[in-house]
Amino acid sequence: MDLNELKTAIEWWQGCEYLHPVTCRQNPDHPVLRPEIEGEHLILVCPTCGWRLWEFAGHIFLQTYKRRLIDQKLEAEAGDFAPSGRNSEQ
Ligand SMILES: [Zn+2]
Repeated sequence: MDLNELKTAIEWWQGCEYLHPVTCRQNPDHPVLRPEIEGEHLILVCPTCGWRLWEFAGHIFLQTYKRRLIDQKLEAEAGDFAPSGRNSEQ
């Protein structure tokens, strides 16, 4: 698994308005966890208290992120072909 790609996917997930972000287990009121690459691992770290999550299902973040990229591409292509699209007069 490409750690940089996974990091991008998790950053997207954590900021996505319709997905439930991964939060700190010490205090759920802390800001959402941030992905950090540490050696061979990607971990999620609480920016407030430093609590670390080592074990999580990275492939779920990655699959959802990639699926979203495909959806965006399809939406963009559909927009190009729409006869009366909002952007047609630009
Ligand atoms: Zn915390």
